[in-house]
Amino acid sequence: MAGREYPLERTRNIGIMAHIDAGKTTLTERILYYTGVNYKIGDTHEGTATMDWMEQEQERGITITSAATTCHWTQEFEHKKIPGALEHRINIIDTPGHVDFTVEVERSLRVLDSAVGVFCAKGGVEPQSETVWRQADKYNVPRMAFVNKMDISGADFYNVVSMIRTRLGKTPVPIQLPIGKEDTFIGVIDLFEMKAYYYNDDKGEDISIREIPDDMKELADKYRAEMIELICETDDELIEKFLEGEEPTTEELKAALRRATIDVKLIPVTCGSAYRNKGVQKLLDAVIEYMPAPTDIPDIKGVDDEGNEVHRKSSDEEPFAALAFKIMADPFVGKLAFFRVYSGTLNSGSYVLNSTKGKKERVGRILQMHANKREDLEKVYSGDIAAAVGFKTTTTGDTICDEKFPVILESMEFPEPVIEVSIEPKTKAGQDKMGEALAKLAEEDPTFRCYTNEETGQTIIAGMGELHLEIIVDRLLREFKVEANVGAPQVAYKESFTKAVEVDSKYAKQSGGRGQYGHCKVRFEPMDANAEKTFEFVSTVVGGAIPKEYIPA
Ligand code: GDP
Repeated sequence: MAGREYPLERTRNIGIMAHIDAGKTTLTERILYYTGVNYKIGDTHEGTATMDWMEQEQERGITITSAATTCHWTQEFEHKKIPGALEHRINIIDTPGHVDFTVEVERSLRVLDSAVGVFCAKGGVEPQSETVWRQADKYNVPRMAFVNKMDISGADFYNVVSMIRTRLGKTPVPIQLPIGKEDTFIGVIDLFEMKAYYYNDDKGEDISIREIPDDMKELADKYRAEMIELICETDDELIEKFLEGEEPTTEELKAALRRATIDVKLIPVTCGSAYRNKGVQKLLDAVIEYMPAPTDIPDIKGVDDEGNEVHRKSSDEEPFAALAFKIMADPFVGKLAFFRVYSGTLNSGSYVLNSTKGKKERVGRILQMHANKREDLEKVYSGDIAAAVGFKTTTTGDTICDEKFPVILESMEFPEPVIEVSIEPKTKAGQDKMGEALAKLAEEDPTFRCYTNEETGQTIIAGMGELHLEIIVDRLLREFKVEANVGAPQVAYKESFTKAVEVDSKYAKQSGGRGQYGHCKVRFEPMDANAEKTFEFVSTVVGGAIPKEYIPA
């Protein structure tokens, strides 16, 4: 049997995190273009995109699924592969940007190894980017930043860098500077090479590398010096050299920046314009250079069947263990279960144990998603991300493993739903169909609940926000042909909380796209002051849906 195609060290599992409209979809699409897949660019402006699978996502212009796409990249110089540079595999795990879907963010954060934060050069760090970054902090996810839309009016790279420092409390290190901005944005300066990269054509394929323009030399020197100092400060050996006035080599600096990035001490920052095809290849180079391979991240923890803590290494030699992180209904193959392999290997056609549910599952097929095709795989290896066809009982967050070596991996926490509405089919005949459909949807989405109110006999659906529930109702109609009426939204699980103790109206903001969802941030406290677990739930709830009595004076 053929071995693995890519050594683990040459795998990157990344997420792209962004505030809505920052350009995540456009950037993803450009990445798929430059990574050599035969794929047309220029579609996203018109509102279609490969990563956005579902029709309604395209209509709403938001990404709510968390699919994964695999592509390959070899570092380049002047759009030519650098001699000796090795091909890497990049798995892009889709990370939604809408606050109602923070749980989708959570599950993608659980299985990725690092993330690229995309910021709009004008808007910078928006409240929603803050929410996502805080979640990434929780999992200690190494990150870099891409300041996108350098071509738009009001673009200010340096302001975004300073917002990353002040708003997100991280140490950004620009490793590039933009040349020009707005209409005159024409390229980037690489602060390691101290060269200017000019993008000459519309597709970003004709790149020339020249000396730094005279009027930017001083600025580039200043930022390079700052970059070197910041990197040296994270490394005992380099700081000694630095203090003695000796400049470390580029290789030493890059290696130290890689370590510091993986330790989440530094955030490398690059810039460009996804839409204008500028800066994307350099971003991919940086992903390879600074983002961790599965072997660079700590072992995943779990418990075995005797309740002992076990660690599973990123290695093909260990017993198989993986986490299911997304279940999707698929029009072609039925149910798709996306999973991340942490250890060992898995063959298609084999049996695994779903240790969370205590059920055996057969792996009918293993698929890997590319921009424009699905590839059937015989075997997947540790560190890989793929989708299984044929699972019956597996839901998001479940561990699947070798039945001889049962383990339940640390999974993700799912917050309780915050909002609920009553729902009723428009016709009597729709009742059974609606029940079945809601059960299916609940299987896909652990933060979505449906139950019957015992007093009124009404069917209640509960979720993470009004938009979340609207999408459910929308899917009922589109996918299950059930037309339904819904009641007024209520705060869910009222009994659990006395009150919302903090309503931060600075977050009250119209979201992007259609601009009809107002949001504010609310913190709840437990009803019983002596409750053992202080449940602090910061959530973004749709404005107006919080009853007045829950809002502190
Ligand atoms: P997402 O919500 O983060 O996925 O953002 P999209 O990729 O859908 O982009 C939102 C809008 O901004 C679309 O109209 C894009 O064409 C546009 N856009 C994205 N990147 C850029 C850019 O670099 N420059 C300009 N001018 N527009 C961009």
